Order: sequence, then structure tokens, then C-alpha cells
Amino acid sequence: MANTKFIFVTGGVTSSLGKGILAASLAKLIQARGYSVTIQKLDPYLNVDPGTLNPYEHGECFVTDDGAETDLDLGHYERFLNVPTSQANNVTTGRIYQTVINKERKGDYLGKTVQIIPHITDEIKRCIMLLGKRGDYDAVVTEIGGVVGDIESLPFIEAVRQLKWELGGDALCIHLTLVPYLAAAGEIKTKPTQHSVKKLLEIGVQPDILVLRTEHDLNNSIRQKVALFCNVDKNAVFESPDLQSIYEVPLSFYKQGLDEVAMSKLRLPIKRDPDLEAWKDKLNRLYNLKDIVKIAVVGKYVELPDAYKSIHEALNHAGMVNNVKLDIEWVHSEKLNDNNVAEILGDKKAILVAPGFGHRGIDGKIIATRYARENNIPFLGICLGMQCAVIEFARNVLGIADANSSEFCITPNPVIDIMEQQKAITNMGHTMRLGAYPCHIIDQDTNAFRAYGTDTIQERHRHRYEFNNTYLADMEAHGMKAIGRNPESDLVEIVEIKDHKWFVGVQFHPEYKSRFETPHPLFVAFIKAAIS
Ligand code: GLN
Repeated sequence: MANTKFIFVTGGVTSSLGKGILAASLAKLIQARGYSVTIQKLDPYLNVDPGTLNPYEHGECFVTDDGAETDLDLGHYERFLNVPTSQANNVTTGRIYQTVINKERKGDYLGKTVQIIPHITDEIKRCIMLLGKRGDYDAVVTEIGGVVGDIESLPFIEAVRQLKWELGGDALCIHLTLVPYLAAAGEIKTKPTQHSVKKLLEIGVQPDILVLRTEHDLNNSIRQKVALFCNVDKNAVFESPDLQSIYEVPLSFYKQGLDEVAMSKLRLPIKRDPDLEAWKDKLNRLYNLKDIVKIAVVGKYVELPDAYKSIHEALNHAGMVNNVKLDIEWVHSEKLNDNNVAEILGDKKAILVAPGFGHRGIDGKIIATRYARENNIPFLGICLGMQCAVIEFARNVLGIADANSSEFCITPNPVIDIMEQQKAITNMGHTMRLGAYPCHIIDQDTNAFRAYGTDTIQERHRHRYEFNNTYLADMEAHGMKAIGRNPESDLVEIVEIKDHKWFVGVQFHPEYKSRFETPHPLFVAFIKAAIS
């Protein structure tokens, strides 16, 4: 069997240039040429995982089947490659140090002085090589978070240097940098790129391929100049322009030959043209949507688009399947009240209440839920969104005025309560109910069953609180049915109001499993209800 190939993606000049999309796009192209590929993200912060990070700090926390709380780039990887990732696909500095320090405490270093080089770098290398080890993948693309020159990414870049040296032709480095356009001078500037490559060279890494992020077309002479000053082959300088959709990026790189150059440098045989027909069809569809449908997403992190990345993508996938372009209004739940709810939500064809933690913004979410229920507007409540639907129903239909979640206050009527297994937990990191669990849809005459077309599903979770089954009989008698349950624990996974056009609350996060080529059935059904 041929050796696994390793592709490192580093970034220069600024953050937010789209390293994740570059990594996902290149991996997609190699996959479309018949190879198995995975993508990994190395994050240079000290949190062991992003699970404890506020979304304002780092955007959405993406959850994998095996319950890893990961960087949102893993969502892009899954949406592009259409294959699941796992804990091994996201490693932080915190995790690396934790492993090394635990080993030191066990005495595994046999009296040696434990140092950043070689012990931290060895552990980084081990985490990178792990994905190639079992022979599952022909290629592993590893995205190094942060920007070259940052103090915190130094050990990662040093690990890349060592691996390039050890693996020889089986590894390559792609450096993504910014080429700014100075309007006053009317010129495209390459100096920041040259400096960024110098920074990499100082650490001993010669990039093999450069990708220049640009808002203006680059001509050949700019590419040649960059190649000459950065020591890179002339045919190995590519551009990454602004495009209408991230899903066009693989096609743009394909046209430029990025995958061919990368594969030939890695001596990965080009067996066939990439099979991108289905992808192109989807993109074509996306670019030709005519009817516009207004919907609302109610959440408390709406100022920050990255906080609801997977929901945003899943909605757009579902719009594409239904042939409609979604005009999504991101409604700040703290700004929603009884006086303005009709004005803000009155023209919306569907309302999604987003997941979240803590009391802030809850009142607005409950008001939005009530508005959707009373006005027969298709409603999807995700995780905390479902919990709000349960609280709202208990208060306004069952008449339990003080119904609440024990996450927010001490109440005699905790219709949402902490899970038994969560009660003794004191550590916050990686202690929620996480990852994939089965759910059994017990009633086939439901919107959920019609959407999934099957009664046994697997979805991903991230929560500590649950529907309190003490109230189940009363809730069901009044019309809110718990139609999805975990087969072992009986935990309520899906609630529906039957006497409503489409009202579904889910304790899990369907958004994590929606992909560009296989949009999520529940989102598809939700948008279908919005337009029917
Ligand atoms: N805060 C709620 C819980 O912990 C919901 C979590 C979420 O929306 N992901 O159960």
C-alpha cells in the first residue's frame, strides 16, 4: 500500500483568509479523483477543546459523532467531504500539553527534562501521523490555525518542519496569504506575502505552494514575481478570489490546477478527472434560485454569523433543495418583546429558535416560540430552542405560570430539568451529554417521521438539561407530543404539536449533519413547510 500523503496548510499576514475552506476544497478535489482524504485542524490555544469557549470568542462549537467539541472548521470539512470527522481531527495546544504533562506525572519520560522541543513537538507530530497510521486515508490535510509569526503557533510550525524533513516527498506545505489592493496607489501589493514567507523560512519551512487571497484578479506578472521572491515554482502560485459561495471554491481551484500541482508534487497518481458533476449541479441550483422566502432565526449571538455557522449552512442547503433563496433575518432574542414581536416576525414564513446556554435572551426566545405556535408558522426549535418550546407550552397552554428550566432558576415546576447523570458534575469541560445517540420516532403520523422516512435515527447532542418526564402526560394531553425518544433512557428527543402546520422541537443538533451534497431531511422539511 502506498504511503499516506500529508498536506499542511499554513496562513500568513492575517487571520480569516479562509484556510479552512482552502483545506476543505483541496481535500474535496483529491477525494473527487478517487482518493480517501481527511482534514485535521490544529488550534494553537490553551483550551483543551473549544467546548468551554464563548461563541463570541471562537464562533460555533462543532460536535462530532464521537462527542468531540471542536472548531467550526470541522463543520466545513464534513460539509465538503461528506464524511464524518472525529476527536482526532481537532487538536489544540491545550490537549497537547495536557497529554505531555499527564505522561510526565506518570513518569513516562524516565527522568528526562520535559521540553517544548522535542516533547511538545513530538506529541504534535504523533497527533498528525495518527490519522495516517491505520491506512484509512490516502491523504491527510492538516490546517494549522493562527498566523505564521504568532508565538503560539511556533511549535506547530516546527512540527511541520520536522515532518517535511522526515517524510520527504510525502509531505508538502501550502501557504495562504493576503495580497492587498491599495486603492490610493491603484496597486496590488505582494510585500506582505514576501514577509510572511520569510517568516516561514526563518523557522525552516519552505512552502511548496502559495495561495494568494485577493479581492482583485492577479495577473501573471504578479504571480511570477511572488514565485521568484518566495522560492516557489511558477506554476505553484494560485489565487483565491472572492466568490459568491464557499461551495464554488473547489471549482475555482480545480480550474487553476491546484489539485494537480499538489498531487504531482506528492507523487499521488492522477487516476482520473475529478467527479464533480453532482457538486456542480448543486452549485448551479444554488446560483439560480429565484423565489425568496423570508425566515427568522432567533438567538442571542446573532451579531456574530460564525456563532450559528452550521445552522446557517443547513438552512441554505435546505433552501437549495426546495428551490428557494432564503432571506434570513437574524433576530436578537434580547431585543424581542411582546410589543414588537408581530412587527419583527409577522412577515416570516418560518421561525427557528437557536440553541444556547444560560438565561440571557430566554424571554425573547419564548415570545418567538409562542408567536410561531399561535400563528401556525412553521417552527423548528433546536436544543435550547426545543426547551423554550416546552416551557412556553407549559406556561401558556397548561397554565403553569412558573414553568421554567432549572438551568435558569429554582422553580417548583422545572419542565426542563438537569439530567440525572449531570447532577454530580463540577468540571465544565467535556462533561455534557455529547455526540451521537439513537432516537426512536414512536409515531409515524408526524412531521419528523415524514421528514426522516425512518423510525430510527442517530443525531448529535450537546446539552445538560432535558424534558422532565413528570410533565409528559399533561403535556401530551394538551397536544404537545414527545414523539422521539432515546430507546435506552426514554429521554425526550423530539416534541411536536400535532395541531399545527409544522411545529418540531429537537433536543439534538440536526445542523451538524447537513452537507452540501446531502442536505438534512429535517431542515428540508422545515423549509418545505415554510413555502407550502
Ligand atoms: N443549555 C441547554 C442545556 O444544556 C441547551 C444546550 C444547547 O442548546 N446546546 O441543556
